[in-house]
Amino acid sequence: MQVRFWGVRGSIPAPLNGNEIRNKMLRVLEFAADKDISSPQHREEVINSLAKEECLVIGGNTTCVEVKTIDAHLIFDMGSGIRELGYDILSKNKANLQQPLHIFLSHTHWDHIQGFPFFLPAYLPNYHLTFYSPHKELQTRLKYQQDFRFFPVSTDYMACKKEFVELERDQEIKINSTLIKHIELHHPGKSYAYRVESEGKSFVFATDGEYNNLSFDRIITFIDFYKNADLLDFDAQYSFDEEIEKVDWGHSSALFGVDISIKSGVKRLALTHHGPEQNDNTIRKLCANAIAYKKKNYKEHELEIFLAREGLTVKL
Ligand SMILES: [Zn+2]
Ligand SMILES: [Zn+2]
Repeated sequence: MQVRFWGVRGSIPAPLNGNEIRNKMLRVLEFAADKDISSPQHREEVINSLAKEECLVIGGNTTCVEVKTIDAHLIFDMGSGIRELGYDILSKNKANLQQPLHIFLSHTHWDHIQGFPFFLPAYLPNYHLTFYSPHKELQTRLKYQQDFRFFPVSTDYMACKKEFVELERDQEIKINSTLIKHIELHHPGKSYAYRVESEGKSFVFATDGEYNNLSFDRIITFIDFYKNADLLDFDAQYSFDEEIEKVDWGHSSALFGVDISIKSGVKRLALTHHGPEQNDNTIRKLCANAIAYKKKNYKEHELEIFLAREGLTVKL
């Protein structure tokens, strides 16, 4: 199974601003000050020897994760990250073959559907898109987003074949040998987490979920759902203080992500749904805190913790 992150930001797209780029450039110049940069080859070498973070950005696009299993091509959420995923799919399908894509939606807050009008495969007749959601009237909601008052092209003009599956509680979906389950998360208007199982590996996509004030029994259902996942993609938008303050806002923190991962026996924890007001350094600090917290409190447990960032591919 392969998991690729196309959008990792929460709430609204948040591209790097000029000041952040300037600060990045300053750090690069500082690093390169005593290095030989006289030729293109030398400059390339200096860039390659930089700390990884200086060359990479966490990314400003909202939620979209692509999962490829041995026999299914899945997409989780259609935040602005799905636009570039669309180009990638088209570039790999030069022969314009029939392509079934299975799109699972956590919920329909804007940051999880706003990329759909810019998803080019949806405009082509050789693509077959199946949408899955426990929310009622998903088709109407997507159509409404593209009402002429808000967007010039209606979903009626998107030429792909569209199919909508309204998931029942506890309903499991099987696409060839790939199994997908879901569970309701605590979030305004409800969000849903999904678990993908294929060839003995498992991936859980759990964004826009809060765990404050939940009963012990409810927490247990999440521990069961995340059980032994090879990778958990977890909503870590808030710092610990924010998580305490923002009760019922529907998000979680990296520290709680560590706690529930340990309790569930998760192997790798990817932190996601980064706040739009957080710059790359702040987000990296939240991740470093989570790693330190794990080291201090769960020394004997194996858990890899890292940031979900745009373009990152994880093989399970
Ligand atoms: Zn969100
Ligand atoms: Zn939401």
